[in-house]
Amino acid sequence: KFLRTADVRKAFIDFFVSKQHTHVPSSSLVPYNDPTLLFTNAGMNQFKDCFLGIDKRDYTRAVTSQKCVRAGGKHNDLDNVGYTARHHTFFEMLGNFSFGDYFKKSAIAYAWEFLTSKQWLGLDADKLYVTIYESDDEAFDIWHQDIGLAAERIIRIGDNKGAPYASDNFWAMGDTGPCGPCSEVFYDHGEHVEGGLPGTPEEDGDRYIEVWNCVFMQFNRQPDGTMEPLPAPSVDTGMGLERISAILQGVHSNYEIDLFVNLINSAADIIGIKNDNQASLKVVADHIRAVSFLIADGVLPSNEGRGYVLRRIIRRAVRHGNKLGAEDSFFYKMVAPLVKEMGDAYPQLVEKQAFIEKAIEKEEVQFAKTLAQGLRLLDSELESLKSGDVLSGEAAFKLYDTYGFPVDLTADITRERGIGIDEAGFDEQMNIQRQRARDAGKFDVDYSAAIKVETPTEFVGYEQLDEKEVNI
Ligand code: ATP
Ligand code: MG
Ligand code: MG
Ligand code: MG
Repeated sequence: KFLRTADVRKAFIDFFVSKQHTHVPSSSLVPYNDPTLLFTNAGMNQFKDCFLGIDKRDYTRAVTSQKCVRAGGKHNDLDNVGYTARHHTFFEMLGNFSFGDYFKKSAIAYAWEFLTSKQWLGLDADKLYVTIYESDDEAFDIWHQDIGLAAERIIRIGDNKGAPYASDNFWAMGDTGPCGPCSEVFYDHGEHVEGGLPGTPEEDGDRYIEVWNCVFMQFNRQPDGTMEPLPAPSVDTGMGLERISAILQGVHSNYEIDLFVNLINSAADIIGIKNDNQASLKVVADHIRAVSFLIADGVLPSNEGRGYVLRRIIRRAVRHGNKLGAEDSFFYKMVAPLVKEMGDAYPQLVEKQAFIEKAIEKEEVQFAKTLAQGLRLLDSELESLKSGDVLSGEAAFKLYDTYGFPVDLTADITRERGIGIDEAGFDEQMNIQRQRARDAGKFDVDYSAAIKVETPTEFVGYEQLDEKEVNI
């Protein structure tokens, strides 16, 4: 019934509007007034102050389909793209929110109704599993008694104590800010896919895919780690639109849904090759979304902060195109098929299409000047290395400094051969370079910003962009 991705997006919003939620538009990918965040990484970002009780709106329930980018900062999925069936750099997160209105009971009941009721998505309940925070007996009782889910299908998971961030059923937006225990819904894609249930060592596979996270917001984490209770218990949920669409379309991978099949076919056409399910085609299709939406939201390629993350994504895509045999600039040509797929839902793409194309083309042309030479240098370095080795910091630095290869781009290439990078050696070269620049009195070159992509950047706003920069 809800076969196209666009239908699923609409169904979600319609369902929650029918439950008295206000439909709020997606916010920008550049977080407004929040220097703790590189890019919008979840639906709740725009409501952060509502959870904290600082911002009062004229509604206490909201529903959104939020543009998200996870390509830096906390929740960085850049290195998963092309390798897993479920990760994108840009994706849409469907979310319903309660600001001191309903809490666990209704949040769980709504999620279950939307997923399983015949009137809505009608998923087979036998394919669903849920996780809860280990000590959350209240959530267990709701799933078990109210919903009627068998106890074996409810998995208790704690926070990830050894890791720098508490994850695994204790969700946090970042190092500070709203957080709380959560309950997640997983879908079993079947025995033919490798992977285990959440909480088992095999959980990282793609058999049981996490589709929906319901966070029970209760705390505001302070910089010193203390957990301050929120003014009122609240709800924040997030469901990946592409993941739920894959389930409804009967395919395993996000990259097989309508939207992605069309983008991948377009990429193959533009490059002039056959679509043989190459990972690089998926990367190109993924990256055009992140890049186009970031540019539409006012980010332009640069050497620091957000602009550098954008530059890295474009250069990675260009390198994957090169690997597929693209001879000329091809990446900017992907904007047109993207506008065709997503322009209806996001008119900003239609309005800014020409600007986005120019900005990408300019970066492509610039990188093309050094890409082939850099690849030749890298190839000669790799000749003497085998799987398990590391590329020297000097080589990685030369690629960075002379050929414009961001270090993660080099790593993306070497990883294909099982080779790592001597990062400490790279940093050392960077320091030497910085010292040299200082000695020469060039204080204005901040090389550190070039790799520290987490450095916050000010949002200048789309209007302030110098359009001449991209020759319009
Ligand atoms: P995963 O464990 O699969 O990496 P996550 O736990 O990091 O996902 P959450 O932070 O809980 O994800 O985000 C809520 C939902 O957003 C997820 O349940 C998933 O459906 C979707 N989602 C998260 N990251 C991505 C991504 N990189 N690409 C597509 N969808 C995503
Ligand atoms: Mg993740
Ligand atoms: Mg997860
Ligand atoms: Mg999660």
